[in-house]
Amino acid sequence: MHFWGLVKGTALAALLAMSLPFDAAAEAEPSVSILMYHHVSESTPRSTTVSPDELRAHLQYLADNDFTVIDIRDAIAGVKGEAELPDKAVVLTFDDAYENIFSAGRPILQEFEVPWTLFVTTDPIGERPGRYMSWDQVRQLHDEGVTIANHTTDHAHMPRRGEDETDAEWRQRAAENILQAEQKILDEVGVSHQLFAFPYGEYDNVLLELVEELGFTGFAQHSGGFGPASDMRAIPRFAAAGVYADLSSLGTKMAALAFPIKEVRYEDTLLTHDQTRPTLEIEFEVRDFRTSQVTCFISNRPHDIEWLDDNTMRVQAEDDLSFGRSRYNCTAPSISKPGRYYWYSQQWIRMNEEGSWPG
Ligand SMILES: [Zn+2]
Repeated sequence: MHFWGLVKGTALAALLAMSLPFDAAAEAEPSVSILMYHHVSESTPRSTTVSPDELRAHLQYLADNDFTVIDIRDAIAGVKGEAELPDKAVVLTFDDAYENIFSAGRPILQEFEVPWTLFVTTDPIGERPGRYMSWDQVRQLHDEGVTIANHTTDHAHMPRRGEDETDAEWRQRAAENILQAEQKILDEVGVSHQLFAFPYGEYDNVLLELVEELGFTGFAQHSGGFGPASDMRAIPRFAAAGVYADLSSLGTKMAALAFPIKEVRYEDTLLTHDQTRPTLEIEFEVRDFRTSQVTCFISNRPHDIEWLDDNTMRVQAEDDLSFGRSRYNCTAPSISKPGRYYWYSQQWIRMNEEGSWPG
């Protein structure tokens, strides 16, 4: 009897060991989708704009499809394992503090009672009435519960070195830019959350180190689920404006999952003129997706993947990347959550001969 009990217990344990890690891991893997907006308007440049009707449609979709909109700081705590995350967690962020976010976006966001974050570029605030908010408006948003965060003083292309500038001088200028914007927000609004969004989502290895050294959490503008494997210095955000405002594709992004990843390997995100086809290697923690179903897109075209071993893939563009920003996007369908996709994106910036790139 005792013997049988042991055998049965062992068999049960073995069965649990086979089934539990998979399902439990799939359930427990924290994941958040962060959406990025700029203008809320009928008249500003389409590529960075949603109309008030589109914003309302996005919020209605989130409400109708069991999403939970959470504050950005709760998302970070959840991904770090310090707090519980809802299953379909979404964060809303607005960059640049345009006046239309206050006048056209805010009433809709209030109607749906959702938390949101404003990444403020500090120099234009109050200097260009009608186009940018005033500090009074930013303070009012803070009083209403909006998280006020840092988007530099001047919206610079941060990886660009100035003429006759040494690397050390450039790095110092970047540090001062971040710290001065943070100080200005502290002086005007009274908060310092140390949340920083790179203008244009542009960064390189040195800037990633700098953000960490200064004690900030960094946000970028490439797509992907935000999870424990994400780089906390360049957290992905899905663009939700312009051509990306269409809910047929944005809905999938809202439900995106963060790939479980052991390691990502690449040389640098900033590419010289001669570095035309960067190599990306990802060592996955393979669970809840099949490696055979991983698909990578480069310049919106599916791309061949080389598997170095069972868990590690390598991908490299077949054609030269164009100057400026481009991305490798990799996705795989979830096994346990039908219709949802794991999503990882790697951004590159390729410089032209002058060390610059298109805006
Ligand atoms: Zn911006």
